Amino acid sequence: MGEDDKCYSCGAQEFEERHINYLYSHKGKYLLVPDTPVEVCASCGMMYCGAVIEDIEEQFFAIHDDRAKTDNYISVPVKAYTNFQN
Ligand SMILES: [Zn+2]
Repeated sequence: MGEDDKCYSCGAQEFEERHINYLYSHKGKYLLVPDTPVEVCASCGMMYCGAVIEDIEEQFFAIHDDRAKTDNYISVPVKAYTNFQN
């Protein structure tokens, strides 16, 4: 974010850079991108990804079209919230 940017949510002008595990999904396919740099509003916690999302989207299609290699594969357990028992 630039000097004069304001948070769309609360109007604050202070942002912190953080690294998150970004899970991109599109039509039932996923790409997990560990350590994605994002900016977070210091006041309300709203997350801003900026142009990083475009890079992730490009990699997502490259990987699913076999034009690029993954670093790794993981399997993830799935359980619906409505099936939680405690
Ligand atoms: Zn904010």
